[in-house]
This record gives sequence, structure tokens and C-alpha cells, in this order.
Amino acid sequence: MTEPTLPRIRPAIASLAPYRQGTQAGPEAFKLSSNENPFDPLPSVLDALQHTTPMNRYPDATAGRLRARLGARYGVEPERVHVASGSVAILHQLVLATASVGDEVVYAWRSFEAYPSLPLVAGATGVQVPLTADARHDLDAMADAVTDRTRAIIVCTPNNPTGPIVTSAEFAAFVDRVPSDVLIILDEAYAEFVTAPDAVDGLAGRVFEAHPNVVVLRTFSKAYGLAGLRVGYAIGHEKVLDAARTTGIPLSVTSAAENAAIASLDAEAELLERVAVIVERRARLVEGLRAQGWEVPDAQGNFVWLPTGARTDEVAAAFVDADLIVRPFSGDGIRISVGEEEAVARVLEVAATLR
Ligand code: PMP
Repeated sequence: MTEPTLPRIRPAIASLAPYRQGTQAGPEAFKLSSNENPFDPLPSVLDALQHTTPMNRYPDATAGRLRARLGARYGVEPERVHVASGSVAILHQLVLATASVGDEVVYAWRSFEAYPSLPLVAGATGVQVPLTADARHDLDAMADAVTDRTRAIIVCTPNNPTGPIVTSAEFAAFVDRVPSDVLIILDEAYAEFVTAPDAVDGLAGRVFEAHPNVVVLRTFSKAYGLAGLRVGYAIGHEKVLDAARTTGIPLSVTSAAENAAIASLDAEAELLERVAVIVERRARLVEGLRAQGWEVPDAQGNFVWLPTGARTDEVAAAFVDADLIVRPFSGDGIRISVGEEEAVARVLEVAATLR
């Protein structure tokens, strides 16, 4: 039988693997593959879901209540806040809004696995700048990589999957070097877990005010535990965010997501106590793994990185056999999310057998 003729797919899209999620865990296993929050939802957040717009009605397309709330919190006009169905949606919107055929998008590598597809989907070209030997962004090299074709640069801090932050001094020097008509996306998905005092904080530091080309991304998926509801936000210049609103798919943020995000801000103190618990587990994991001889880079997100190189697949398989679902990046390393308390001891136990 001859193959049926299929619609022509753009070569850049056909060459991409569809987004692959972290492996799902069986009932006995710990799922440490997607940097999720291990805690159950707060009762007040569940309650907020009961009071959403009826399902037969569309949500507020602008997520106006949440934008007003975030604007008040950060001391900016609601127009300088953009809410979307996860910060990954905002990454797509911003790249689509700035880069097209012939343009370049610069990002560090290895970093968040969604980045490579962003320029390709937009028809643009991705430019990967290797991390330093200690798994940090090389901001000098990233600034050097800027050409007259560069339209956007993504800076991920703390870097997923390796863990280290960009310092505020490094970021300030970087922003000064990048032409002001090039968008800088500061992806701070894990900001709430950061304890390094010198880390850049795009919102507290208000870099976006002095530099209209900087947009800061945050999410409710990690520290606030709403990964399944899909809600993230950006703060930046109104006109830049208008461009993201234009390229975004309308009405993607549900009323349930907006309500849960607002309820999470109401319960922020309690949620940040949980973050502190995760940070403490992270410290024990890093210390324990280093004591076993693993070269774990500074871990500032809710995950740790094992640079396992050529052994990656074999080591990851051993973790999975022990019901620890981790995220391997073949030939490079393994990312292990900081999850349940019992998982800390189990990870250390299994890691010790793999040195
Ligand atoms: N940025 C980074 C660095 C991430 O690791 C993630 C999630 N893995 C995201 C953005 C996207 O998160 P979400 O779409 O759930 O807000």
C-alpha cells in the first residue's frame, strides 16, 4: 500500500520532536521529573475553585482581577502585567512577537528544554551559548553572540536544569551591553526558591523599569503548586506585553486558574512556608550528594543536577528501578526535583550505590 499524501509540514516543525513530558510515576514511585510542588493544594485554593465563572461562559480574556492584584503587589499599572496559561505560553508569545525568518534568538544551553522550539516555531534561528564549566550562564558570551539579527535573548535564573543563578551585578552589566531594541526575557520560574543573596530578582530590582527591553517571567506552577491549572505572568513594558497579548491564543486562562492564583496570593505566607521546607530538603540533598562525591552545581531552584555525562542513561535507569522517576538528559546529566520528604532519603540511598 502506498502511503497517503499528508499535508506539507514546515520543515522546521517536522524536524522537531513534540514536547516530551517528564515520565509519569506509578503509585509506588516518586515523580521527581517535572519540578512540581509535592504538597497537596491548600483548602482555601480548592474552595476558590468552587466560585469560578460558570463553565458555559468564557473567562475574562484579560484576567483583569489577577492582573490588578499582581500590579498592586509589584507597584505597577495592570497594563504592565500580562497573564497567560503558564509562563511557557508567554515565552512563545514573546518570541513570536519579536522574531521571524532570518532573525535570531539567543539562549544558554543547556537550559529549559522548551527553549529550542521557540525560535523554530517562529521561523527564526536559535543561537545556543554554552554554559560555563560550573553550569552557569556565560552572560559575556551571550552578549558577544548578539548580532544585528538578534531579536530576543532568554536568560533563565535559576537555570533549569543545572540550578545556578545569575547575579544582579552580572545581569546589570549584561543589560548594559545588549542593544536596547533587543528583547531580554528574564525567566524566573523558580524565583521563590532562591536563597543566594546576590541573585538577580527582576521584580524586586525593578530592572524592567529602567530598561523597557526587559520582561520578567514568573509562574504559579512551581512555588504556588498550580502546575495543573496553567497560569503564569510577565511584568514589563506595556507595549511589549501588548505584542505578547496579540500573538497569544485568546481566552486561554480559565476562570478556575485566575481564581486559584488569586487565592494563592491570599495564602502566600503559608505557601512560602512550604517553599522553605523544599529549600531545606534541597540543602540536605545537595550536601548528601556532594558528600558522596557527586559534583552538584549550586542548586537554587526546586531541583538538583547530577552531571553524569556518558553514564546518564544507566544512572537514570537505576533511579527509575528504585521507583525514583528522574529526568535524564542523555549524555549530559540528570535533574532530580526536590519532592516528598521520604524521597530525599531514597535519592541519597540510591545515589550512593551509583558512585
Ligand atoms: N521556565 C522554566 C525555566 C521552566 O522550568 C518552566 C517549567 N518547567 C517554565 C518556564 C514553564 O512553566 P509554566 O508554563 O508551568 O509556567
